[in-house]
Amino acid sequence: MSVDVMTGREIPPSVQGFLDSAGVLVIGGEERGASDGGTFTTVDPATEQVLAEIPQATADDVAGAVAAAKQAHDTGVWRGLDPAKRASALFKVADAIKQHANDLAWVDTLDHGKPVKHALGEMIAASNCFRYFAGWVDKMTGDVIPSRDGRFVYSQREPVGVCAQIIPWNFPLLMATWKIAPALAFGNTTVLKPAEQTPLSALWLVRILREVGIPDGVVNLVQGVGEVTGQALIEHPDVDKIAFTGSTEVGKHIMRTAADNLAKVTLELGGKSPNLVFSDAGDVDKLARRAAFACFYNSGEVCTAGTRLVVDAAIHDELVSKVAAAADGTTVGPGWGDGVAMGPLVTGEHRERVAGYVDIATQDGAELITGGAVPDDLDTGYFFRPTVFDGVTSDMRIAQEEVFGPVLAVQRFEDEDEAVALANDVSYGLAAAVWTRDVGRAHRVASKLQAGTVWVNTYGEIDSPVSFGGFKQSGIGRELGPHAVEAYTQVKSVWLAT
Ligand code: NAD
Ligand code: MG
Repeated sequence: MSVDVMTGREIPPSVQGFLDSAGVLVIGGEERGASDGGTFTTVDPATEQVLAEIPQATADDVAGAVAAAKQAHDTGVWRGLDPAKRASALFKVADAIKQHANDLAWVDTLDHGKPVKHALGEMIAASNCFRYFAGWVDKMTGDVIPSRDGRFVYSQREPVGVCAQIIPWNFPLLMATWKIAPALAFGNTTVLKPAEQTPLSALWLVRILREVGIPDGVVNLVQGVGEVTGQALIEHPDVDKIAFTGSTEVGKHIMRTAADNLAKVTLELGGKSPNLVFSDAGDVDKLARRAAFACFYNSGEVCTAGTRLVVDAAIHDELVSKVAAAADGTTVGPGWGDGVAMGPLVTGEHRERVAGYVDIATQDGAELITGGAVPDDLDTGYFFRPTVFDGVTSDMRIAQEEVFGPVLAVQRFEDEDEAVALANDVSYGLAAAVWTRDVGRAHRVASKLQAGTVWVNTYGEIDSPVSFGGFKQSGIGRELGPHAVEAYTQVKSVWLAT
């Protein structure tokens, strides 16, 4: 029997009202369409229904947005405000996100597909992120530097200027927050371009920013596909800094393009994160549940997803069969469905790509344990079953390439050295985890893992006060935490003859 994906799809009236008004760009405080009238649609991946028609910003529209951000920067309407006033505005944003959390969660569920309860958690994280960065606003200090006799030298941190911020579709509102909150906290102005698959919730955030009194032009919103709107943004000579989250391939293209204007760049890219489980790690049932969660959360569309389960030979068979059971026990369905733990993939095209990796892994000799197909009972929507491959070796593409879907690759090790070698044998270095009760091993392995984040006996935890970013081809620079200061400020040294 097939599931009716519409069951429980009771869109709150406030969310419906928002969807009806979502077809706008925001440039210099003005909500308007594209200069050539062009549009694209965004789709609900659980029902395949169109949610809204969105203006496709042209290069002219992008130039208008950059000009508005530059003017706001040059006139100092934001960076020139009292720090207490700027902090207060950002605290109000945090409160407003919390106040509208349920509606915002619905918007991201409709646009991306994730379960509403997961989206709700992301809204709380987004609120906390604004609160964290609001706290930084009035705590930026410089140094007094001892130098030559007769000279007084000090340093101060200043905003970088106009930021181009380009984000992916996996955590729409949260990614917008990770970009906008630190940019504003450190006095910058910005042009945000959401992913074309999930353009909606960023508009609600931009309206909130306006309501709390952040001046027009400080935050501008352009919408459209990467090749047109994104490309115009990264090429614009008045962009001082580009902050990008997305694929490694586009990240490299952005860095090359940024070279022409020497725009500063931070990149948060893909991953193929290893989840190392030693035989002394404890209850295998619990480990299996956590390993499944690490890979299948958000349909596996997570840059830090634990997509490689690197497991001790001594517990391999038991752990793999229990992870497969957890995969089969995952309730897949629309984000508003009762007890749903995993929604659809973001688009039909992306599902094709994920299914393609099932074929590739099989051809390369990996053993399909479970999944690898569309669920029998879901014929509408871009659903895909949680999938487990065993017998994966480092030379296989499924061990090396980011699938960005619910596909787990299991690799087996005999000893600690082999575990670390397998873990590090990829071009990525975003995150890694180690599960063991041996405290010496925990520290030893954590120090050897080539990753920007390492979890010990936990997985997937991210918090605003903790710096986040990638080693190797997973990125450049750090977002969140105290290191965000580096990403969104530049240092000026001042010499004074006394
Ligand atoms: P992508 O890198 O193509 O898109 C990310 C963002 O970049 C989007 O807003 C897109 O419009 C924009 N973009 C694309 N081309 C551009 C260009 N030439 N100039 C400026 N902006 C451009 O990622 P995707 O197509 O959404 O997904 C493809 C793969 O990217 C995924 O399968 C996954 O491997 C990876 N990905 C990683 C993350 C992450 O958080 N690290 C998030 C989403 C996707
Ligand atoms: Mg969508």
